[in-house]
Amino acid sequence: MALYADLHRHLGGALHPRIIYKFLQRQDHEVLNFFPDYEGFYNWFTRPCNTLEEFVKIHSLVEELQSIEHLPYFCLRLCRGAYTFENLQYLEIRYNPYFRTDKNLGIDKRLGQMRDIIGVITTNFRPADYPIVVKQILCFDRRLPLKLNEEILKAAVENIGPVVGVDLAGPEINPEVSEEWVTLFSKARAAGLKTTCHLGETTADNIHPQLFSVLDRIGHGIHIPLARPELLKDLARKQITLEVCPTSYRQTGTMKDLSNLKEVFKRCKEHGVAIAVCTDNPGRNPAPCTLPGEYERLIDHDVIDFADLKHIQQEAFRSAFGFVRGERH
Ligand SMILES: [Zn+2]
Repeated sequence: MALYADLHRHLGGALHPRIIYKFLQRQDHEVLNFFPDYEGFYNWFTRPCNTLEEFVKIHSLVEELQSIEHLPYFCLRLCRGAYTFENLQYLEIRYNPYFRTDKNLGIDKRLGQMRDIIGVITTNFRPADYPIVVKQILCFDRRLPLKLNEEILKAAVENIGPVVGVDLAGPEINPEVSEEWVTLFSKARAAGLKTTCHLGETTADNIHPQLFSVLDRIGHGIHIPLARPELLKDLARKQITLEVCPTSYRQTGTMKDLSNLKEVFKRCKEHGVAIAVCTDNPGRNPAPCTLPGEYERLIDHDVIDFADLKHIQQEAFRSAFGFVRGERH
């Protein structure tokens, strides 16, 4: 049995819509007033959006559901599915701990609860029956003030071990604020964390080469080979891997046809830039969206050759932040 590694998957977008719907039913949640049957919910939840902003709005709804008392429910199902249906051996899950805290609490209590949330996730990412190794990446967010992002960094450093890295996520707003991020990422690195950053996903506007000196990987970055190919040499020199999530680009309105990725893979290969194929938000894609399914779709759209597959799968393990061969969960 082939075993795979997925390096880019959001906790808020990792779960099958059926699991979310059953959870809403258990809670008798008010959202069900809009969706009396599963089909309606499924179509809404997995529909392609026109923009990343629109896509992120639904993501925020799931983040609110994943409050501290309900996280065990979601974590178990996430590990179960990834192990059983995708043959994942290793998974890096990313999330913003602050967005899962109780909005009714004061700021100090919310910061405290952020630590509890990381603790609950750590405990529940080790279900006895599904021996998959899951590591965590904590996300900063472009919508949050610097002070809060710094608190997220602090919490990540306190939890090094289960937490292996940090990321910058959220809609691609404020493309000009890059100095702040450079400082934050270099602090993270100095503390022993690995770094990745969502950039160059929907446009080339927030691609700042000064970020490259503080990053180990880039979330998406597909507009680097497409719009700024002159920067690929620098990525190769700094050994930065791109996390490419094919179906996601259709869902966020970034790409109409996966064949457009052909140029991304070709230019990266020519310049020696590694690509790890990942899933991003598989629960938000029309089912079945799994990592093996993404590999298959790339071959199907003539983006990669079957012969490239083994190498691409190995790149994911090689570029992982916390993979140790032989480690058991
Ligand atoms: Zn992402």
